[in-house]
Amino acid sequence: MVKTYVFGHKSPDSDSITSSLVMANLEKELGNEHAQAYRLGNLNKETEFILNYLGIDAPELLESVEDGADVILVDHNSPAESVENLENANILKVVDHHKLALNTSYPLSLRFEPVGCTETILCKLYEENNVGISKEIATLMLSAIVSDTLLLKSPTTTEDDEMAVEKLAKIAEIDVEEYGLEMLKAGTDLSSFSIDEILALDAKQIDFKDVKSIVNQINTASIPDVLEMKDDLEKGMNKIIEDENLDLFMLLITDIVNSNSQVIALGKHADLVEKAYGVNLEDNMVLLEDVVSRKKQVVPIMTESA
Ligand code: MN
Ligand code: MN
Repeated sequence: MVKTYVFGHKSPDSDSITSSLVMANLEKELGNEHAQAYRLGNLNKETEFILNYLGIDAPELLESVEDGADVILVDHNSPAESVENLENANILKVVDHHKLALNTSYPLSLRFEPVGCTETILCKLYEENNVGISKEIATLMLSAIVSDTLLLKSPTTTEDDEMAVEKLAKIAEIDVEEYGLEMLKAGTDLSSFSIDEILALDAKQIDFKDVKSIVNQINTASIPDVLEMKDDLEKGMNKIIEDENLDLFMLLITDIVNSNSQVIALGKHADLVEKAYGVNLEDNMVLLEDVVSRKKQVVPIMTESA
């Protein structure tokens, strides 16, 4: 049996986990019975909430793939964010909404769209292939769209995302506002995580030109609650900066109710945050009004200023 591994990125979010399940299901429906969903890391609380709501198991953990393994990537395409040994795997397909970072020596099937969530693209793929969307699949899709777009409020949200949610809510029989807020709030529960775990939950290595950085985002319903841990967070960030020889560690503490982000910036290039947003860090910190999207409101602006 030749297995097809379907997985999202490391430090998986709800889009990466649900998209791997939804894509593996689509592959099966289209005749690839060996497609199986995997995860590249621990589930966050929000994703746990979604899977508990549906009563389904998390995909199996995948550490690396064997040479020549068939793989399908969802919600990422950068090798740095992907599985170990990806360079020796055979990538069959990619479904993603991030910038293209992949370069292969062989042809493959790519479906990229600049929408708010991978699940919005998968919703279209089900339609295009005339594959019915079950209540469970609809709930997975809808949950991820709500997660990636923060209830359709993030600037990454497109009309396609809105249309998908409207359609999926009917199939899932879900009140989007009510379910969505409960789901997002479940994701903000940090009580069971250590500082190191919090700093790894949604960390992305992003280099702003030559500025070697990690940008981590924590969603919360209360910024002051998270700031009670500020000293410990800074200690942890400084240790990671030293261990990984980073120029900048940017921690976004995003208020999902009021759509702002409190930023803690450390490292020898912390001043890049000041330059990019025209602000002054006080006590390593600044509140960025209306900034909620790392992809749209951090990466391009920071890159431009570097
Ligand atoms: Mn993601
Ligand atoms: Mn995504």
